[in-house]
Order: sequence, then structure tokens, then C-alpha cells
Amino acid sequence: MAKKTTGNPKSQTTSTAKTKTTGKKTPEPTPTETVVSAVRPSPHTAQADASKPPVIKKTAARKVSRVSDSKTSPAGMAETAVQATTPTAVETQGEPSSLLETPDAGSSLQPVQVVTEVQAQSVTIEPEPEQAPEPAPEPTAPFIVDAADRPAVGAESESEHITKPEPRPFSELGHAPTHELMPAFDSTPGPESHAEHDEPWHATEPQWEPAAPPVWRPSLFIVHITPELATVAKVGGLADVVFGLTRELAIRGNHVEIILPKYASMRYDQIYDLQEVYRDLWVPWYEGAIHCTVFFGFVHGRKCFFIEPHSQDNFFNRHSIYGFHDDVMRYAFFSRAAIEFLWKAGKHPDIIHCHDWQTALVPVHLFEQYQALGMTHPRVCTTIHNFAHQGITGAELLRATGLHRPEHFLSHTRLGDPRHPNALNLLKGGIVYSNFVTTVSPRYAFETKDQGQGFGLEPVLHTHHIKYGGVVNGIDYDVWNPEIDHHIPVRYGIDSLDRKYDNKRALRHRLMLADNEKAIVAFIGRLDPQKGLELVRHAIFNTLERGAQFVLLGSSPDDRINADFWGLKRMLNDSPDCHLEIGFDEDLSHLIYAGADMMLVPSRFEPCGLTQLISLRYGTIPVVRAVGGLADTVFDKDHSNRPLHERNGYVFNDYDNRGLESALGRAIDCYNAFPEHFRELMKNAMRCDYSWNRPGQDYLNIYDYIRDA
Ligand code: ADP
Repeated sequence: MAKKTTGNPKSQTTSTAKTKTTGKKTPEPTPTETVVSAVRPSPHTAQADASKPPVIKKTAARKVSRVSDSKTSPAGMAETAVQATTPTAVETQGEPSSLLETPDAGSSLQPVQVVTEVQAQSVTIEPEPEQAPEPAPEPTAPFIVDAADRPAVGAESESEHITKPEPRPFSELGHAPTHELMPAFDSTPGPESHAEHDEPWHATEPQWEPAAPPVWRPSLFIVHITPELATVAKVGGLADVVFGLTRELAIRGNHVEIILPKYASMRYDQIYDLQEVYRDLWVPWYEGAIHCTVFFGFVHGRKCFFIEPHSQDNFFNRHSIYGFHDDVMRYAFFSRAAIEFLWKAGKHPDIIHCHDWQTALVPVHLFEQYQALGMTHPRVCTTIHNFAHQGITGAELLRATGLHRPEHFLSHTRLGDPRHPNALNLLKGGIVYSNFVTTVSPRYAFETKDQGQGFGLEPVLHTHHIKYGGVVNGIDYDVWNPEIDHHIPVRYGIDSLDRKYDNKRALRHRLMLADNEKAIVAFIGRLDPQKGLELVRHAIFNTLERGAQFVLLGSSPDDRINADFWGLKRMLNDSPDCHLEIGFDEDLSHLIYAGADMMLVPSRFEPCGLTQLISLRYGTIPVVRAVGGLADTVFDKDHSNRPLHERNGYVFNDYDNRGLESALGRAIDCYNAFPEHFRELMKNAMRCDYSWNRPGQDYLNIYDYIRDA
């Protein structure tokens, strides 16, 4: 099919410059500026796939994409995110809280504005997947610290009076330590082979068990401290997780508040009724303190406090969220400011829930300093969304944050980094000091502790295994739901599956792909080596060779990776069966989820992954590598020991072209030759429940556990 040359001028600036194959020089693309660019500098550039590109039918017509509106900021889910509708006070807009009246009492800190040169750097760690975890060398580290035994703030003495309560087994709460949470590994596909389609494949209607009656439980006061929150400050899945989990906790009758930095780059249009609520928060920093203002506002019904420091460091007054040489210091300051705010405001949450290395100093401050000042009530749960980023820095940080005592904190039982002598590891501090540590899937919990995926923290996880577990993320079905999705032209559900194909036509129309009988394979994600970029590249050509179409939506903070994919885009410019969109486009992502037949997620490692969960909801069959959360949520149609009605996708084990080709080939073959089987698989996928319902309860169980312990 000859590609049209029409398209609005706007789209031509944000989409690729599609070239003719007539030998004319390809104009340099103008890569879409993307907020994703702020995230996680990539350790290395994706290697080009060595496979020979297929012969692609070229067309003379210049293909001009109609895809436009690639955003310069993370597109929020504003239009579709629904105001929470719970009967609790949390969802009621009104006076934020009584903290306005809270006297700034008890602080002996002098409000002296000090700005000191910060010397710290973030270290991105190379994975060592083959490295077996060392035997746990560490003695039991602080679990819950008895306030009475703590030294005064700033005291130099090495106090080891730590009381560690006998923890109740996690399994008593319906959980199990990570090794028991692991799936049966023989349930993953065996040797790659093509499906045996001659066998009838019928997924019988599942028998649903009636829901258990709700159990009464006391309401908790829960504060999430986070660097990201959809829809105001989103870089990756972490933002969606805090957005979804906090609403679920509120729906269940808890009082939930969120503390995050007041970034200059936030989506202020997503905050309702933003107002100053605490004008003079002085946060200790080096030998003085930094003056901060705290704002309050609602983000789609969620109660949020935004901390704004006023200092020459300009910690959050920058063009993006991450990507600066002083990131470790920025978030060390935020952590100190958040706990200082809780203390000064007289807030005594039952649970403080921290996220990733950026907030991992909060439990350290709590149990080393603020507990002695009277904050004896809170317990801390820390969720690690990705072990690749740990916040490793020098001992200078101890002086900045007022923790001091390098000999104490650099100890291997506390924040001393296992691989860099004399370096502090903030994430390790979060693991050691938190009452409970979760990661975002049971399989990733196992891989990080026992399979060398912990980026050096395996021994620490072994030492603290009793308080470590995995909870699979949910997705927000008010946002990701084809029955109510306003981003897609035709809404559909499990009983109106044919209407999905109207969205497929709309996707082709928007991307100027040929309208034919072929399957559409898609990829959506950060173009980060973590996502398996060599395999993505190989899949593009393999899909075209197999007579299907390929659509990619992604972007990278790394110019070399972006350039690589722009090169690919130019190469495939005139293919009527392929479109690569380099940029961040929330709106287009919805149409791809709805219009594609299969979603490829071939990650090297994947803590949880949201794309496969969203795809399942849209009846778009995931083709994934059996790693991390992908292995916990996608079950192979042909090679799983799950009941037929629970199988929902295609899975491969080995990170190589052969594994990928096998799973992708089976999916495309099934689509072409056994459409009824494929349709059953789509229905299975759509029946899966990956809402926040279950993980919400899991987190409440953890909160109860650490409150009771
Ligand atoms: P990670 O957190 O590692 O980036 P996840 O799979 O957990 O990966 O979450 C990715 C989320 O970001 C998904 O909601 C996905 O749809 C979205 N996303 C990723 N890249 C893009 C893009 N280029 N345009 C629009 N949405 C994107």
C-alpha cells in the first residue's frame, strides 16, 4: 500500500521525517523531547542486531505520520483519571488538615540559611547477573529501634541497644517469605517449540469463587513519601503505582497522605486547590538549615503535600525530575525535609511508606534521630521498584543530613555499600532500617535475593529476608479499561470483542499502515537496555518476515539509543507494515493497547512491568520473557501447567533471538491459523484481575504485620 503523503503539519514536526527510497539525503530527525529522558541514564547503548533486514516492499510515496502531539512533558491521565469516590474523608475536598495550627515547637534548630557546596554523585551500577549471592555475612541489623535506648540527635556514641521484636511469620498473614512466594519454576515453558495446534484448545469458562466477606479492620493513617506521582510528576511505573495504591488504600477506609517535592516541572494543571500550608519549615542541612515552604493540593482526590526548598541549590526548580549530578543530595534533602515536616506538623502516621532509593533515608532518620524526639509511633514500609538504582554516594552526605558518625553509618550492617568501600548506599539503608521491604513482584523478590539480580545487595536481602517480600503491582482500571477509555475511538469489552477491530483500523489509519488481515505486534516502553532492545530490534524484522505488522512507541534519555531507533525508522520508512514512533505519547499508547493484537515485552529484567498488565485488560496478547513480574503475570498458552482458562499469553525463557522467535512465531501462527483459539486467549486475558484490589489488601496485611510486630 502506498503511504499517503497527507498529514497535518504539526505531526510532521513531532513524528519522524519519513524518507523516500530514491536516494535523497535523509533529513535529520528532530527527536521528540520527552520527559522520559530524565530517567535513569542507560549504562550502555543497545547493540545493533546482526540479523539481516528482510526485503521490504518500498513505496515511492513519502510516508508522513499523522501521529502528533508527542509531549514535552509526561502526558497525564488527566482526562480519564477519575476522582475517587469513597465515603472517607480522604476523598473529600476541604480544609487540608490541622497542621496549619501546629506550632513549630520542639525544634532546637536555628533557622540559619546555609548553602554549602555539595559533593555527591549518583552511581549507576552495572548488573552482575551471574554473581551468586554471598552467604549472608551480616549480623542482624536494626529492625525496630527502641527510642529510649537511642542516643540524642547528633550524639557521637555508638549505641547498639537495639530491640528486635520476634517477628510473626509473614505466612501467618496469608503471605510467605519470598522463597515460598515463588512460582513453581517448572511451570515456565520448557524448551522452545512451536505450538501443537492440531490439539483442540478450549478454555472452559472459569468457575469464579464468591468473594470473601469484608473483614473489619481499624483505619490507618498512612503517609506515602515518594519522588513521583502520576499524573503530576511521572517518569515511569513508580508514579502509577503510588497513584493507584494510595487510592485503593483510601477506598478501604484509611487516611492517606502523600509527600513529594514541589518540582518546577510538575503538571500544575493536575493539582486542585494548591495552597501554601506551612510557610516556615526549616530543614537541618549541614551546620545550618534550609528554609522550605509546604504546599497542599489534591491530585485527583489524593491529599498531597509538596515541599519547596528555598536555596541556591535549586533542588527541584529544574527542567526535569531526574538526571542531575547532585541527584543523591537532592533526594537526601527531600527525605530529611519530609520527616522534619511530619515531626514539626505533629503528624504521627501509623505507617510511612517510602519508595526507592530517593526516599530510603527516611527510616534511617526516623529510627536514628526522630524516634528519640518522640516519633515512636510510625512503622516504615519501603517498596523497591528497581534495584538498578541505589543512590550510592560518599560520606559527605552524613554531614549534610546531620547523621554524622561515619564509623557508625559506613558499617556493613548499616549503610556501607557492599561493593564500594567508604561509600554509602541509600537503598541499603532503606532495607536495613525499614520494618518491611517489598519489591513489585514475588519473582523479582526471588531474583534479587537469590538469582544475582540484586545489583550487589543480595547478602543484605538474605540477612533481612524475614521482612522482604514481593507484591505484584496493580493497574488503575478507571484509566486502563477499554469499556470506558475516552482515548480510543470505539469502546469494547469481553462481550463486544469484535469492536476491538474498529480500534485496529483506527490505529492503522493514524499510523498510515496497510489495512489488511495481518496481525499487529506492538512494543511500548522506555528505550532502555533493561527492556531488551536487541530483541525488540530483532522482533521488528522477524515480525515483518512472518507477514505481520509492527508498531513501536518509545523513547530514551540516551541520544545514542534514540539515534539508533531513528536510523531504524528511516530504514523502514516506506514499509506499509511498520511504524516506529520515537517519543512519549500517552494518547497514542491507549490506541496501541486497544488496536494491537500482541504486545511484546522481551525485558532483560523486569521488576513488575505495567505494559503486559494493561495489554491483558485490552485483550492484546502479551509475548514476554519469563523474568520478574512478567513471569508472575503471563502464562504461556501452550507450555504452562496452569488451567487453560488462566493462560493468557506467550512466554519465552532465554534472552536470545531463538527464544523470542519461538514465542512470537507461535503467537502469530495461532492468530493466522487458529483464530478461535486466539480469541479464547484474548478472553482469558481480559478476565484477569490485575486491579489494585488484591495488592491493596496485601499491603494492608503488611502494614498490620509491622504494626503488630
Ligand atoms: P518502567 O516503569 O520500567 O518504565 P513499566 O512497564 O512499569 O515500565 O511502566 C511503563 C508505563 O509507561 C506504562 O504505563 C506505559 O504505557 C508507559 N509508557 C512507556 N513509554 C511510553 C511512551 N513512549 N509513551 C507513552 N507511554 C509510555
